[in-house]
Amino acid sequence: LWGQIREKLRATVGKNNYANWIEPLEFAALEGGVATFMVPTTFMGNWVSRNFGDQIVHEITKAGVPVSRVEFMVPLVARTSERDRPRTEVRKSRSVASDAAVDSDLPGAPLDSRFTFDTFVVGKPNELAHAAARRVAEGGTVTFNPLFLYGGVGLGKTHLMHAIAWELRKRSPDLRVVYLSAEQFMYRFVQALRDKDMIAFKQLFRSVDVLMVDDVQFIAGKDATQEEFFHTFNALVDQSKQIIISSDRAPTEINGIEDRIVSRMQSGLVVDLHPTNYELRLGILQQKVDQLSTQFPGLKIQDGVLEFLAHRISTNVRVLEGALMRLFAFASLVGREVSMELTQDCLADVLRASDRKITVEEIQRKVSDHFNIRLSDLIGPKRVRTFARPRQIAMYLAKQLTTRSLPEIGRRFGGRDHTTVMHGVRRIEDLMHKDSQIADDLELLRRSLEA
Ligand code: ADP
Ligand code: MG
Repeated sequence: LWGQIREKLRATVGKNNYANWIEPLEFAALEGGVATFMVPTTFMGNWVSRNFGDQIVHEITKAGVPVSRVEFMVPLVARTSERDRPRTEVRKSRSVASDAAVDSDLPGAPLDSRFTFDTFVVGKPNELAHAAARRVAEGGTVTFNPLFLYGGVGLGKTHLMHAIAWELRKRSPDLRVVYLSAEQFMYRFVQALRDKDMIAFKQLFRSVDVLMVDDVQFIAGKDATQEEFFHTFNALVDQSKQIIISSDRAPTEINGIEDRIVSRMQSGLVVDLHPTNYELRLGILQQKVDQLSTQFPGLKIQDGVLEFLAHRISTNVRVLEGALMRLFAFASLVGREVSMELTQDCLADVLRASDRKITVEEIQRKVSDHFNIRLSDLIGPKRVRTFARPRQIAMYLAKQLTTRSLPEIGRRFGGRDHTTVMHGVRRIEDLMHKDSQIADDLELLRRSLEA
């Protein structure tokens, strides 16, 4: 079928485009209305997706297979070698040494040598997750199985998983510890299907002692992959093997994953990483400065700079680290110390981005999505509870997260009076202490808005 579709595409995109971009695509899977192709590089995947994605979807659908989207995957080997951050020379040699220690027949991805417990800064927002990870890393009797870690982007899920893996390997070198992303799991699975190698696939995954699957939300909507994951999961748990899973949201919040899998994933310990607070960010920055001092010897930082960054940069640790790295590189390049002035110059864009104002419109959109109601009903005049409660929540969030005044908010809710807004805000303030469902909804919405 893909052969026929390709021919159609040849006609629509032209010969050159076809040879450069379409021909190299390798059809991999069709699941949940998503057609997946293998591509040699991420760049190519992005390019094809941007320029020919719609046409590919169109042609596949025309051929009688309705799809909503195409996705591109890069084979495992290419993928893990193109990491998204600069590495120092020291790191390179160290991580090569450590990767070599990994069993070559194991299906996992390499571990980042910087992601250990030693380098993980603990604070209020992550102390539970850290404690649970520590406990699991001590090995011995399986206490929390599975361990399910969740939290927003850049809050340390991958770091903690790698730390567990390092620790386990250190304590018990013979243990077969496998870490990989859910995407890589799917890639392996699809490849095994294609190569008619399912038995080997199953044997491989069922033979590990500890299985860690990162970003499990990726398998949402991918039914066959989920099914296989579920079987792997059950087989391992039955043998009392440890499983560790991470996700960007709570198990029950992942749409498109079967209930029985959700309930399995929740059956151990579920812990979340909260957005960072000021103290944690400052702690991480201080630690990072220590680490960087070998790389930038003699570089001076003026008082107040770290505090300023911890205040101004969002909850995402990755952004924070990137900013510091850039600041150091810039300062050493121009041979100056890191002053407030230099910081503001060098990081103007990052600071502006983290200044990003959440808008009332954005809040309304998120809230209506969250409660599965129409935007027009959220803003409109209907007073039934199904609309009124989300409306009050949206008003509350608008008051909390934007600088808009009550009358301004009222205007954006179909011209309501400021007293109506105030009433709504108070109602939610009252309810959030009594109704844990509302507290959860607020927390989730706030997170996704601030992400
Ligand atoms: P996630 O997987 O949750 O998106 P990562 O684990 O990749 O996030 O973390 C993003 C970056 O932030 C990594 O470089 C990681 O080392 C760093 N980081 C996150 N939390 C901490 C922490 N508590 N202490 C030190 N570094 C952290
Ligand atoms: Mg991660």
